[in-house]
Amino acid sequence: MKIIDAKVFVGGPAKNYVTLKIMTDQGIYGLGDATLNNRETLPAQYLTDYLIPNLVGMDPRNSEDIWQFLYRGAYFRRGPIAMAAFGAIDMALWDIKGKLANMPLYQLFGGKSRDGAMVYAHATGADTEDLMDSISYYVDQGYKAVRVQCGVPGMPTKGYAVPESKGAFRNHITSYSGIRPKVETWDSDKYMRFMPGVLEEIRDRFGPDLKILHDVHHRLMPREAAAFAKSVEPANLFWLEDPTPAEDQDALTLIRQHSTVPIAIGEVFNSIYDCNKLIERELIDFIRVAVTYAGGITPVKRIVDLAGLHHVRTGFHGAPSHSPLCMAAQAHLNAWAPNFGIQEYLVLGTPECDALFPSDHRMENGMVLVSDAPGLGVDFDEKEAARYEYAPGSHPVVRLEDGTMWNY
Ligand SMILES: [Mg+2]
Repeated sequence: MKIIDAKVFVGGPAKNYVTLKIMTDQGIYGLGDATLNNRETLPAQYLTDYLIPNLVGMDPRNSEDIWQFLYRGAYFRRGPIAMAAFGAIDMALWDIKGKLANMPLYQLFGGKSRDGAMVYAHATGADTEDLMDSISYYVDQGYKAVRVQCGVPGMPTKGYAVPESKGAFRNHITSYSGIRPKVETWDSDKYMRFMPGVLEEIRDRFGPDLKILHDVHHRLMPREAAAFAKSVEPANLFWLEDPTPAEDQDALTLIRQHSTVPIAIGEVFNSIYDCNKLIERELIDFIRVAVTYAGGITPVKRIVDLAGLHHVRTGFHGAPSHSPLCMAAQAHLNAWAPNFGIQEYLVLGTPECDALFPSDHRMENGMVLVSDAPGLGVDFDEKEAARYEYAPGSHPVVRLEDGTMWNY
C-alpha cells in the first residue's frame, strides 16, 4: 500500500481550518487537522512544500515509522508549526488504518472504557448576573461542567474570554479578525480581589454537583497564583487552568505547597517533553494537550499513558480553533483512555460546519458519544470547502494599565 498524493485545504465557516487529505493507491483516504490558530498558513505551507513530497510513495500503515521520520528527520525539532503539521499527517494515517481495519479508532486503542465523555461548556458574563444567566443556560442544556469567566469591575477591558456587553454570553468567542491584534488591559490585583467571591457565589447558587472550572490564562505570577489557588478553595473547583505561564514549571511547586485546588495545564504544549516532568512530579492534575498541536495521536497516546502512571487525567484542549477532525481524534482517545477526565467542547454544530465535515459524533446532555464509523468517523466535503478562503486573524494582546506588555 502506498501514499500517492495529499492535498491541503485552508478555510471554513468563521475559522481557517487547515485540512489534510492523504490519498492511497487503494482508494482509501485519510483526513487530519493542522489548524494552528491564527497562524494557519504556516503548517499548511510546511505540509505542501516539505512534508507531502516525502510522504508520496510511503506505506501509510507504518504510522509510527512515519512519525519518527518527521520528528527525528527535521533536525530542528518541535515547535507548534511543525508539530501541527505532523499532527495532521498522523491523524490521517490513523484514519486510514481504521478504515483498513473497518473499525472506529477507539477499538484500535483498546476499546471503550465509558459510554460517553463528559464535556465542559464556556459560560461567560460581562458581570456576575450575566455570568449566572450563562451558566443557567448551559445547565438547562444538560451540561454537568462549565468553565466560568467573569468581567472584573474597574478594569478598562473586562478580562479573558469575557464579552464587552451583557447578554452576549452564549458561545461567546473573542473576535480574531484582522492581522493587527486588539489590545486588552489587565490588572491582577483587581482580578484577585473579585474572582474568588464570584466562584463561591456560583457554588452557592448551583449547588455541590456542578463541576466548575476557571481559566486564569497564564496571567498571574507564581506567588499570586499560589495565593489565588488558596483563596478559591471554598468553591471546590473541578480545576484551575493555566494559573501561571507554563514555561516556569517550578512555579507550580509553590502552588502545590499552598493549595489542593486541582491544576490543569498544557494547551500550548506541543511535545511530551513539555510536560513529562510536570506529570512525573505530580504537579498537575489534568493534562490539556490537543492532538493537533502536540503532533498527533501517536505522541498524545504516549502522554496519556505516562499521565495515567501519575494520577493525572486528560482534559484535552477543545477551543473552536480545532476542526471536527481533531475533536474526533480526541473523542476516540476519550472513549478509550482509562485516565479520562473531561473534554473542552464548544458547540460548533452549525449547518455550515456539519456540511463541511459530515460525521455521526454526537453531543447529548453534556456528553460526547463517539461515532462507530471506521477511522476518525469524520468526512470532508471538498465542494463545500471551495466556498471558503483564508481570512487573517490574530489573538488579542494584553497590556497592564501602564502599558507594560503582559501574557495573553
Ligand atoms: Mg485555556
